[in-house]
Amino acid sequence: MKKSLWHRKLEVLESRLNPAAPQYPSVKEELRKCMAGMEGEKRLYYFLSELNESFRLLHDIRLPSPNGVTHFQMDTVVVSPSVIFIFEVKHLTGHLIFNRYTNQLIRGNQTFSDPITQVHRQKRALEQWLVKPVPILPAVVVSHPNARVDIIPPDSADREFIVYPMEITSLVDAKINGRSPLLTAKEVHEISGALLKHHRPYDPGILKTFNIHPDQIQTGIRCTACKTFTVTKINKKWTCASCGSYFKTAHLAALQEYVLLFGPKITNSDLRAFLKIESRSITEKLLKKWRVDFEGTTRNYVHILPDADKQ
Ligand SMILES: [Zn+2]
Repeated sequence: MKKSLWHRKLEVLESRLNPAAPQYPSVKEELRKCMAGMEGEKRLYYFLSELNESFRLLHDIRLPSPNGVTHFQMDTVVVSPSVIFIFEVKHLTGHLIFNRYTNQLIRGNQTFSDPITQVHRQKRALEQWLVKPVPILPAVVVSHPNARVDIIPPDSADREFIVYPMEITSLVDAKINGRSPLLTAKEVHEISGALLKHHRPYDPGILKTFNIHPDQIQTGIRCTACKTFTVTKINKKWTCASCGSYFKTAHLAALQEYVLLFGPKITNSDLRAFLKIESRSITEKLLKKWRVDFEGTTRNYVHILPDADKQ
């Protein structure tokens, strides 16, 4: 399972943001949430892998809403010949209360946006998106093994939308049982392909999101052995000035990190400042090798590196 673009951006930001920055705790917390979400989806996938091989499994799909302005994101989508399932995964530990009067998910004194309402909204958006009508069944997966669930009122019909990972295969079997297939294998494939094709990853400028100034970002090439940003070119070899380790591609990781934080456009002097390299010819060589395009004039020459989601 691939990490989302947002997850990768958070990892890079967490590793490069000055730990003394006031935004550091919120970056760490957002990364923790992303990691927990991924853990939950992995648990779900473990059980979904037992499903019939004619089903298609899609992870983290974000599509334009029917209104054309916003987007809707689905954690896991299973396309079968007779039903499409949308699973919203909640990887939270502790006592979770789904209050159906207030449409809230409550844990202790925390409230979360209601995943049952969310997954129904996703269902309505996906319905308008499909060319051929196929029943869509939404569910919220409570994936953490240490979660305990209550619903208010206890006899709420919405209880059927809350499932645990180990119930997934029997739920899917029960919902499919007795329905005749509406889609051919080719159509299942086509729908999945269309969902992937129109997927637009959540991709805001991460520095802007956390209100971070570029000065708060640690520059240099990181040594994977001693974690300092002190790798530089010594005698034609990328070498860590702190511990003496050699690297073949440490500079490429730094280039990818640059794109994740600042976007794909870069000038030679931006790159020299980011990699802490004085030699213009070293960075020029790197840019010429890795750029996919360029723009501007000789005085203001901008190299365009591959997009982060294509790397
Ligand atoms: Zn080192």
